[in-house]
Amino acid sequence: MNQKTNQPGAPIIVVGAGFAGMSAAFFLAEAGRRVCLLEAGRLAGGRARSFQEARSGLELDWGPHLFMKANPALRDFLERIGAAASLHFASSLDLTFRLRDPSAKGVRTERLRFPARGGSLGGVLALFRWRGPGLRARLEILRGLLRAASEREGAGSEEETVGRMLDRLGQGEASRAWFWEPFSRAVLNLPMEAGSGVLFRRVIAEAFGAGPGGATLGSPGLPMRAFWAERAAEHIRRLGGEVRMKTPVRQIRIEGGEVRGVVLAGGEFLEASAVITAVPPPALLTLLPGDIREEAPWRDFGRLKPGPIASAYLWLKRPSAGPLFEALVDEPWQWLFRPGNHRESADEPIALLAGGVDSVAAAPRGEIVTSARETASRLLPGAVIRRAVAVREKAATWANGADEQAFRPPAETPVPGLILAGDWTATGLPATCEGAVRSGRQAVEAVLGAPAGAEMPPQINI
Ligand SMILES: Cc1cc2nc3c(=O)[nH]c(=O)nc-3n(C[C@H](O)[C@H](O)[C@H](O)COP(=O)(O)OP(=O)(O)OC[C@H]3O[C@@H](n4cnc5c(N)ncnc54)[C@H](O)[C@@H]3O)c2cc1C
Repeated sequence: MNQKTNQPGAPIIVVGAGFAGMSAAFFLAEAGRRVCLLEAGRLAGGRARSFQEARSGLELDWGPHLFMKANPALRDFLERIGAAASLHFASSLDLTFRLRDPSAKGVRTERLRFPARGGSLGGVLALFRWRGPGLRARLEILRGLLRAASEREGAGSEEETVGRMLDRLGQGEASRAWFWEPFSRAVLNLPMEAGSGVLFRRVIAEAFGAGPGGATLGSPGLPMRAFWAERAAEHIRRLGGEVRMKTPVRQIRIEGGEVRGVVLAGGEFLEASAVITAVPPPALLTLLPGDIREEAPWRDFGRLKPGPIASAYLWLKRPSAGPLFEALVDEPWQWLFRPGNHRESADEPIALLAGGVDSVAAAPRGEIVTSARETASRLLPGAVIRRAVAVREKAATWANGADEQAFRPPAETPVPGLILAGDWTATGLPATCEGAVRSGRQAVEAVLGAPAGAEMPPQINI
């Protein structure tokens, strides 16, 4: 355990105010440590932030987020900062699939709804009632889920892709198209041929291991800033920590092989007893002195790859009725969101979301908006689109590929006092908000030599 703090009395500096950095700073402050959180941007939240859309004045998310009930670290953190009440979960895993169908007025929807109670048996019945793919594919899905949720670690190779894992689990084309592709892409933001089977299996085990209740999806009822980012910063300050926005770090100062502190973009040096970095890999590499970048683990960071996500907000003439979110089958866009369902704004747009290097999220900006308009017109017959705005995050996720897992670094580094956090570090999970918070906890544990906060319940209220 890296309990060593280099300059006693100096604060622990955390770099980056996304979920990883905020949770690390929060748990340190809660443990009574002096902590100083530095964020380059004007607003906290990192990739889970919101922004003010210029023309409407509305606060929109940098991309809609969904969370699972089986996200214990995230839900525990949201609970502690008073944000959990604004996270709305459905009563059970309830997915509507929307698809083109010439025989049904051009479009039809199919609902896969697990009962709120009933455990695995409820799951079996839900799959039987679902009118998505044929019976054979539904039986395959059931068998695949049960096997994947109960397989021991190491059942497939470390470098197994989702596609290969599905071969092993006997999954055919229809079950992939209807279930595994949308599910694994939502989890890994990669095509099945590239995504890590090990990560996917872990998520399946956490989501379905105790019955389908863990896979129930929820979304914030407020834009990210009000939902969690401001609350987290406020809690850190209330616990005695310092949070500084618009304060980019330029370099981590390492002397005599130990961390001494950080140099800010303006040239100011801040002494630190330890530095936790919670920034993505390329940003971290720029902070390190040139001479150590060629050494392990830093030299392998270039192997970690980002995945893009695009979100298109569409203002419709009349509101589009339907559930909060729908999975789109066989379309360039994978999800349709209706955030207005639980926000009190008459002018709330719907949103389409697409992710993955092979998706429209990687296309030129102009094509993104055109494609979103076309998809919405196709799938929402009669909808009149007044206006469309797209945002794209080129590095929405990191290191979810089968060939990248060996290069994700642990929290502790060879440099005493330098600790890593971020959704891309070795958390055992994909790059998600749950992974980011777990990385924040791991970083705190590496500094304190003790678990962050009180014992975290393995599952909360599933
Ligand atoms: C559109 C979109 C949709 C997503 N959907 C989901 C979802 O549905 N569910 C889910 O769980 N996850 C989702 N994710 C992923 C999730 O948002 C990320 O996994 C998570 O937010 C990453 O948190 P982080 O703290 O590791 O990194 P980040 O959020 O990237 O935080 C890093 C912070 O460091 C700051 N920084 C960088 N360099 C410096 C510097 N030199 N000095 C100071 N500060 C610096 C950055 O400004 C940033 O605020 C989505 C992401 C996107 C973009």
